[in-house]
Amino acid sequence: MEIKEAQFIVSNSDVAKCPAADRPEYAFIGRSNVGKSSLINMLTNKKNLAKTSGRPGKTQLINHFLINKEWYLVDLPGYGYAKVPKAERLKWEKFLRRYILKRENLYCLFVLIDSRHEAQNVDLEFMEWLGISEIPFSIVFTKTDKLKPEELEANLKAYEAKMFETWDTMPGYFISSAESGTGKEEILDFIENVNQN
Ligand code: GDP
Repeated sequence: MEIKEAQFIVSNSDVAKCPAADRPEYAFIGRSNVGKSSLINMLTNKKNLAKTSGRPGKTQLINHFLINKEWYLVDLPGYGYAKVPKAERLKWEKFLRRYILKRENLYCLFVLIDSRHEAQNVDLEFMEWLGISEIPFSIVFTKTDKLKPEELEANLKAYEAKMFETWDTMPGYFISSAESGTGKEEILDFIENVNQN
């Protein structure tokens, strides 16, 4: 699939104000600085559709984009910001979880993980919660251009080993680079496939 049109629809912090759930929806989430905005811009061929975040924790809104007039791409606020006061963090983590649980047209949540780093508890716990809540998700390992192929392979193996402490099977995953475009075709083909089924 090629993204020919990406139209901004609405930003909000209230699930009730999201667009009608009448189209397939795919959302992207991850820790601050994981490369979420860059990935969304790469997928949609836009320089600045999702704002790359100079200031972590600033964009705490659910952003809906209508893609090819067919499906919604959703840019979700990140989680696990150390610098945001706890009360505030809890408040918007609650609204995030509400969106994830309530949005019945959410076909897949892409959980972004920086391929350079060791598995982080905040990501592992979040994915565990997704599993328990039966939310369909895929992992996207980002910034893979920053690693040599053998380093990437070793990191993926280590990540899988960590996942197997909790999971019986490794959730589906993609490897990506917003720099080189790695993963673009695979992610968009995956979305197209799910849309057609
Ligand atoms: P966000 O906070 O998750 O939206 O992350 P951004 O997309 O703003 O990216 C955070 C930083 O990582 C920026 O400096 C990006 O240029 C950089 N970055 C993001 N994706 C990639 C990638 O695939 N490769 C490389 N080399 N840098 C990346």
